[in-house]
Amino acid sequence: MTATITKTTCPYCGVGCGVNVTVPNIDSGLSLDNIPPVSGDLDHPANFGRLCVKGSSLAQTLQSDDRLLVPTVKGEAVSWESAVDTVSEKIAQVVKDHGPDAFAFYLSGQILTEDYYVANKLAKGFIGTANVDTNSRLCMASAVVGYKRAFGSDTVPCNYEDLELCDLLIMVGSNAAWTHPILYQRIVAAKKQRPNMKVVVIDPRETATCDIADLHLAIRPGSDAAVFSFLLQHSVDVGVLDSAFISRHTNGFKEALNQATESTPTLSSVANFCDISEQDLLLLASWWAKTEKTVSFYSQGVNQSASGVDKCNAIINCHLATGRIGKEGAGPFSITGQPNAMGGREVGGLANQLAAHMDFATPGAQELVQRFWQAPNMATENGLKAVDLFQAMEEGKIKVVWIMSTNPMVSMPDTAQVRRALEKCELVIVSDCKAHTDTTAMADVLFPATGWSEKDGTVTNSERRISRQRGLLPAPGEAKHDWWVICKVAKCLGYQSAFSYRNVHEIFAEHAGLSEFENSGKRDFDIGHFSRITKEEYDALIPVQWPVPKGRPEGTKRMFEDARFFTPDNRARFIPITPTLPIHQATPEWPFTLNTGRVRDQWHTMTRTGDAALLTKHTDQPYVEVHPKDAKRLEISDKSLVRLTSPYGEALLKAKISRAVSPGNVFTPIHWTLQFANAAVVSNLIPQVADPLSGQPESKHAQVKLEAV
Ligand code: SF4
Repeated sequence: MTATITKTTCPYCGVGCGVNVTVPNIDSGLSLDNIPPVSGDLDHPANFGRLCVKGSSLAQTLQSDDRLLVPTVKGEAVSWESAVDTVSEKIAQVVKDHGPDAFAFYLSGQILTEDYYVANKLAKGFIGTANVDTNSRLCMASAVVGYKRAFGSDTVPCNYEDLELCDLLIMVGSNAAWTHPILYQRIVAAKKQRPNMKVVVIDPRETATCDIADLHLAIRPGSDAAVFSFLLQHSVDVGVLDSAFISRHTNGFKEALNQATESTPTLSSVANFCDISEQDLLLLASWWAKTEKTVSFYSQGVNQSASGVDKCNAIINCHLATGRIGKEGAGPFSITGQPNAMGGREVGGLANQLAAHMDFATPGAQELVQRFWQAPNMATENGLKAVDLFQAMEEGKIKVVWIMSTNPMVSMPDTAQVRRALEKCELVIVSDCKAHTDTTAMADVLFPATGWSEKDGTVTNSERRISRQRGLLPAPGEAKHDWWVICKVAKCLGYQSAFSYRNVHEIFAEHAGLSEFENSGKRDFDIGHFSRITKEEYDALIPVQWPVPKGRPEGTKRMFEDARFFTPDNRARFIPITPTLPIHQATPEWPFTLNTGRVRDQWHTMTRTGDAALLTKHTDQPYVEVHPKDAKRLEISDKSLVRLTSPYGEALLKAKISRAVSPGNVFTPIHWTLQFANAAVVSNLIPQVADPLSGQPESKHAQVKLEAV
């Protein structure tokens, strides 16, 4: 038997682990059943050979009985030509009759950078709409805006090594033990080697991540920013400011400090606001004060909030005030949820971005991108962010939506609204690997897409590292790559030459060319080294951290080591913050606060992980965690059925009596869909409240009532 070992990356979380897959040569006639389990890539700097159970179970997901294999229109199988004609004619008609903003893409942090690039180019440069948003809006949009406000750019300063080098790691709103397991394992190993390294977890829930915590602050849900406002003031009080850094490299310190002092004036006011003890807060502050090498590691618990951007800036303010950025083992480090949320950002895959980390607001950017693309119909202003996008569909403003590789019927807040929105559209196009999801059920046109192990391209992980995903297996049925389908539609719309790519290598080289076009170091994202990359070099690409400008092929390990930021005066900005609590607080009618999150072995809406029998062993059913005191009062027993109701809908779930949540709070995982567990769709309960700056929904917070069934 002959076999080929191919290096690729795991398609699940933002850690972006390298994976080796041993594929029997198809010519040998072996069944795909014989594919051996995947193993971790020892050479990949994200994981050095480790894989979590999701990654190591990837082989079990390769043969699904539910693959979408042929294009369909209104449920009828049709040829690719016919499906593409149907879609192109409808897009052309609605753009003619109602303008370009009657069309929208809703993309995914699961698709590859090259797919994102052509979708963004088609919409923003050729159709003429910036209605290109993505499920990454639900993942890290607040972190992006936080970075941009502070640094003038969406630049993650740190790398994974910093998590091992720091002496104090503050993990905020992250259950990394389950959601980013390999990073967590790296942290565990570092702490084992250096037991003096302190880990603090700030989270309303006692999660598996708390197993390594020296201190767990079980804060009031949503009160995170106050902790950092206090740390800012404490840094002044105990004299650990880096005054030289503040005066040479930043603006706005006094204003930020004044705001912190006004809004959270005393230790007791902060402790009350956060519902934690003064002693615990002081303990954190004392560690913060004496620990130069501090990393603040934050994720969805910070981002998925109506004040998510402010929370990010409260964290960043503390790092700027103490000069703890751009140094080994120090910095504010946002960890993205999805495998390619960052790659999507790099090509402009958010409605408020243009391309290559340029926004519509970036002076001269629109003309620059237009020149580069030779674009006939450039969008001129921001498009609609996810929640607004679905509301515009319901209002009849968006008539055609093309959803790619995501399941908004389950992942967006307020499922009932999403259903109304899709029902109102004149044409819903869904590109997916799977035939049956809650969203494919709403489609007029289904495009069968290639998936992990079949498609080729690049992804970028949480530490800015660009890695290849490589095609290993032939596409099943008539499935096609997303970029191919987009180009086919673009050509049908009359844009032949701009979408005449023969392969992903050509798309990547163009993307790299745009990143360096008229750049000269003014913009953070520059991978100009790859603008003339050959196909052989692209095929052999080894993981590298951007920026990778011409003359620096080794990439950039850590940002801001020179303390020069991407603002007009190269100085970082402090942002004045007033900590605020979530909008929908518990009331007598809705007495519980709902928190949401992930279980260890499932991913998103289980469209892939649901296929792996091994992955259902850890948690095989949806549940709601209820504190024993609340359970006793409401006569709810463990594993009994309970009804959760919010002003937006309801869900039926099994109770899990647990002290992980505080009294008055409940927690439930997000993964289960109508297909897997009828009536347990948690997004039914979540309001469409979003951060006004980032548009990221407050998916981790809802007011609910709870009753035994
Ligand atoms: Fe995949 Fe994330 Fe697990 Fe790594 S940590 S193997 S990227 S799911």
